[in-house]
Amino acid sequence: MTVSPASSGPIIGIDLGTTNSLIAVWRNEKAELIPNVLGEVLTPSVVSVDEDGQVLVGRAAKSRLTTHPAQTTAAFKRFMGTEKVIRLGSQSFSAPELSALVLKSLRADAESYLGEPISDAVISVPAYFNDEQRKHTRFAAELAGLNVTRLINEPTAAAMAYGLHEQAMERSLIFDLGGGTFDVTVLEYDLPLIEVHASTGDNMLGGEDFTAVLMVACLKDWELERDDLSPKEQARLWDRLEQMKHKLSSGTQTLDWTVRDQEQHWVLDDARAEKIWQPLLKRLRQPIEQAMRDSRLQPRDLDSVVMVGGATRLNCVQQLVSTLFGKLPYRHLDPDTVVALGAAAQAACSKRDASIEELILTDVCPYTLGIASQHGEKHPDMFSPIIDRNTIIPTSRVERFWTTHPEQQQVEIKIYQGERPRASDNILIDTLEIPVSPLKDSNQWLDIRFSYDINGLLEVDVEMETGAKHSKIVDRSPAGLDEEARQQSHDRLQGLKIHPRDSLPNRTLLARIERAYSQTLGDERSQIQSWLAAFEEVLGKQNKDDILRLRNQLNDALDQAQL
Ligand code: AMP
Repeated sequence: MTVSPASSGPIIGIDLGTTNSLIAVWRNEKAELIPNVLGEVLTPSVVSVDEDGQVLVGRAAKSRLTTHPAQTTAAFKRFMGTEKVIRLGSQSFSAPELSALVLKSLRADAESYLGEPISDAVISVPAYFNDEQRKHTRFAAELAGLNVTRLINEPTAAAMAYGLHEQAMERSLIFDLGGGTFDVTVLEYDLPLIEVHASTGDNMLGGEDFTAVLMVACLKDWELERDDLSPKEQARLWDRLEQMKHKLSSGTQTLDWTVRDQEQHWVLDDARAEKIWQPLLKRLRQPIEQAMRDSRLQPRDLDSVVMVGGATRLNCVQQLVSTLFGKLPYRHLDPDTVVALGAAAQAACSKRDASIEELILTDVCPYTLGIASQHGEKHPDMFSPIIDRNTIIPTSRVERFWTTHPEQQQVEIKIYQGERPRASDNILIDTLEIPVSPLKDSNQWLDIRFSYDINGLLEVDVEMETGAKHSKIVDRSPAGLDEEARQQSHDRLQGLKIHPRDSLPNRTLLARIERAYSQTLGDERSQIQSWLAAFEEVLGKQNKDDILRLRNQLNDALDQAQL
């Protein structure tokens, strides 16, 4: 799939996050967040299939994580770029299909809010997303009927949003710790130019991991294995630990829990949490050090360190940044929404909207791209880089290679992405087979040119000593997904029943009440059961005003009870 030019309607900016997704539009000379049908700007990236086979996306689905874990899934962005099959009840989905359901829901919210059809979007991806993960994101958009006018790196989008608001910064490091990924980007503002110098990261490290290790520590203290808990109990414990993590900055947290008729108690304070999270905090350092090395800067050369992503709210993460850089992290804009706002600004720039000051953005290729080559009989699997990581894109580089013997009739060019010396330890992106007309007695050279564009499209040109030329745009369709598999995904999504948008606020409240019921006991539980009965009765009478009134009352009551 290629990136198509935009149509005439509005282009929206989408932050397709591991935990939450957001959508924004450029209107009235500024980026504006678009609320979903519940009036909220954060839509949980959670999908559930209910008893009637209807698909729920967002907050209603999130509530069902604890009550219906076998029919519900979250954090599937972590499986983008893999072949993982995720089962929801009797149905199976791939990560791009689930992401497409989130995108479809965001698109419906934007269309209802803006009152016009939407077909174009700028979608943000973690800077350190590899080629396969980017392809899967594009495919998810295609399944949701969206044309991606640009994939923008998340920290770069955040940098754009900051660039529009703050004029004073020069050299910045963007520290982006989301739910599932970690990106570090070093950039320089010389407005209207924003120049990315280095982008590194870990696409398997995020806020979810901080909750996961809390779960391990807590179960260990209780001398339990994860499998000792039912899937529902596991989901409920995860939910409680997630809440503890969020509230930790306001003081010591306690957890009381009954499992197998035994009362359990767990206490978490900053010191204990920091100890439990030490291995993760250590992992955060490595990409930072690499980004500083690659951009040839010392911490003192930076004017600011900008925090992006929900997990940067953790005290210990902020302390780590303060210690490493000797300055307080900068978080003037909301770390949850800044990426979506930047993506909308990029959408306006790509539409050449006159109301946005033209920001010129240069980005880098975060990975080294090269081919497998043979250095004599003993070294058949060497990686030969052609584009080094952190080269400014777009870029075009050429390297000369040689056939291995004079009679050779074909060369196989295996294209890899990665930083390991052995080619096969890196990620294979594509393989090109090129016919060779042998020269008389000698090996012949071939020049291999890699051209990499701003969206991450790689084009490979080969010129042989004989003058023969070959060119190929590296296949952007997700690996293992041929035309038939792609069509099957389209058909599967078409065949799904999506829960009607209008009744989503009611469905969300019902799911929330069920979740609250599962979390409480005794009198509180009876109270919640009576709310459920009252709401079901009002729903049965179908009077819109009465439904709205009671829905608001019950949502307020649940807010107050922190359920
Ligand atoms: P994002 O993908 O940027 O929405 O980040 C989501 C991650 O941020 C999740 O792992 C959340 O648990 C985490 N997060 C959100 N709020 C907080 C908070 N107040 N304290 C700690 N972590 C948080």
